[in-house]
Amino acid sequence: MFSSLLIANRGEIAVRIARTARAMGLRTIAVYSEADRDALHVRACDEAWPIGPAPASESYLVAERILEVARRAGAEAIHPGYGFLSENAAFAEACDAAGIAFVGPPAGAIEAMGSKAGAKALMETAGVPLVPGYHGDDQTPERLAAAAREIGFPVLLKASAGGGGKGMRVVRGTDDLTAGIDGAKREGMASFGDDRLIVEKYLERPRHVEIQVFADSHGNTVHLFERDCSAQRRHQKILEEAPAPDLDPSLRADMGAAAVAAAEAVGYVGAGTVEFIMDASGAFHFMEMNTRLQVEHPVTELITGLDLVALQLKVAAGEALPFAQSDLTITGHAVEVRLYAEDPARDFMPQTGRLAHLRFPEGDGVRIDSGVERGGMVSVHYDPMIAKVIAHGADRREALARLAAALGRCEVVGVTTNRAFLKALVEHPAVVAGPIDTGFVGREIESLAPPAAAPNHVLALAGLAEMRRLDAEARAHAASTADPNSPWARADSWRLNDSAHHALRFRQGEEEIEVEMHADREGWRARIGGTVLTLEADADPDGTLSVAVDGVRRRVRVVADRDRRTVLVDGGAWTVSLVDPLAGLDDAAEGGGRLVAPMPAKVVSVAVSEGDSVKKGATLIVLEAMKMEHTIAAPADGTVVGLLVAAGDLVEEGADLVVFEAEGAADGGGPADRVAVDSGAGA
Ligand code: ADP
Repeated sequence: MFSSLLIANRGEIAVRIARTARAMGLRTIAVYSEADRDALHVRACDEAWPIGPAPASESYLVAERILEVARRAGAEAIHPGYGFLSENAAFAEACDAAGIAFVGPPAGAIEAMGSKAGAKALMETAGVPLVPGYHGDDQTPERLAAAAREIGFPVLLKASAGGGGKGMRVVRGTDDLTAGIDGAKREGMASFGDDRLIVEKYLERPRHVEIQVFADSHGNTVHLFERDCSAQRRHQKILEEAPAPDLDPSLRADMGAAAVAAAEAVGYVGAGTVEFIMDASGAFHFMEMNTRLQVEHPVTELITGLDLVALQLKVAAGEALPFAQSDLTITGHAVEVRLYAEDPARDFMPQTGRLAHLRFPEGDGVRIDSGVERGGMVSVHYDPMIAKVIAHGADRREALARLAAALGRCEVVGVTTNRAFLKALVEHPAVVAGPIDTGFVGREIESLAPPAAAPNHVLALAGLAEMRRLDAEARAHAASTADPNSPWARADSWRLNDSAHHALRFRQGEEEIEVEMHADREGWRARIGGTVLTLEADADPDGTLSVAVDGVRRRVRVVADRDRRTVLVDGGAWTVSLVDPLAGLDDAAEGGGRLVAPMPAKVVSVAVSEGDSVKKGATLIVLEAMKMEHTIAAPADGTVVGLLVAAGDLVEEGADLVVFEAEGAADGGGPADRVAVDSGAGA
């Protein structure tokens, strides 16, 4: 075994690898960009070396710099994690040349599976079943269009170098073909520097079932069963589970054998995943092989009891697999979801910000893999995943129930997350009944979106927390002045002969709500519109409150972050802003009719000119962020009054893009409202 390991990655996977490697007695070496100086993975390792500025292209993706650190730090092996350099054949080769073990397959296997086109050609020869399609060298738009017509619509265009669901377009007829080919090529070029495409028959309502394989350098290849990753949004995995629900054991054996054949065909060594798409009849077809550890590997670990990172390290050190296929069994069921900083109410827009509060549940078969901590940043530079929340149970039902409960107890404040969406997904009757197909989430998206407005009892709790905060402030102030017992040192609105109250204003979206807080002997009353709620609170030592709202006791945490107040209660989280009555009096006059960037992004193209009249929904600007395209569309019929950006510009979140005048708005008199941005990711 090696004595030292460099981890060429960041975030949860770097932390996860570090934990296993340290437990095995290896000296662990982290690398970090300027943005990650204080990141968890840096502290999870024995030592950490800087490798450059925040953008991955200038740090985590710079092979020479990482190799130089490895040499100087005396690392015997490099684990690339997933993403970044993990599927870069040249990097694997460079490690070899430098005499450093690359924890992954031989460069040749990465190369062979690196292009979807090449991999499909190889698999065809190895007798692995394929999705009907075109994966030829002629990449002219004419040839691709002809292939699509031969295959028959609907077809799926994929960037041959693709991954992560990027550079994919479903085309349902000739009308969309040219635009689809252009868009997929552009996204392929932007994401992977390669615009070659393959064309496949688009299967309706399929399942995504993948097989984990493992091979050593002594000629042994086994599979560690399957994972079902059919819960996807725009071809990106949201929930993964093992084993696949209702998979016939003989089908499992067939898929396992096909995956082992695929791995053997390329001389595979180490951990890999062969992805299949399965139709309703149970027929399965090869999609691609990922030549690395997958994000969803924990579910396989939980059902097999194996540590895949430990196995990777042993195999990379030349050891033989310590088991044969017949030794492996499945115990129970495991499900994982990806908790992201993203806003389901705004088309899952990635969110950035500081994690003002973060707390994860423990126990009950729950495992959390996370690379961030309280006070840390979710930045624009990297994937906005906060954690993988994973649960193991005796059976599928128990695993799902444990996962739902765990999601209810995850507390994340500072960025909007998909937590409520995930909880709704995990609790959805169709998911509980299982299995689902890859289109399920897209079809059910409306019913899975979390409730938008905070109910009255949540507003009342925000009001209560605010009064307690003011009270604490007043006491602290009084303690430092002459008369600590003065009734004026209290914030409970106590006044002689007065029906005392304190009016708070909270903003939620566009709406402002007044919450009138009245102090009385037992506690507080909150008046919201015509409703009055009574509140009696006891504080608990861990910073939560136990509050009886109209007699019903609830456990509550309210986290203040600048003007925002996040109320965590009933397994939900609601964020409102406290309106400072003195601030922002003249805000309303600003920003009328401007369309703003919903996130930091690059302007890919500008589709209109100043003075153009456009229809509602027309594309005005295409942005690219996180390697995905986002369309800024006209929010109404109207006129493009001004263009404030040009193709190639980099824009900050909230930057003005277009001055837009909705039809009829000009003669309305008052300042126009800020127009909401309608944005759709272009995957
Ligand atoms: P990536 O490498 O970008 O992840 P994949 O080829 O693995 O792309 O496909 C991602 C997802 O897209 C699959 O899990 C599946 O849901 C969907 N998909 C891929 N190919 C097809 C197809 N031919 N028909 C229907 N859906 C497909």
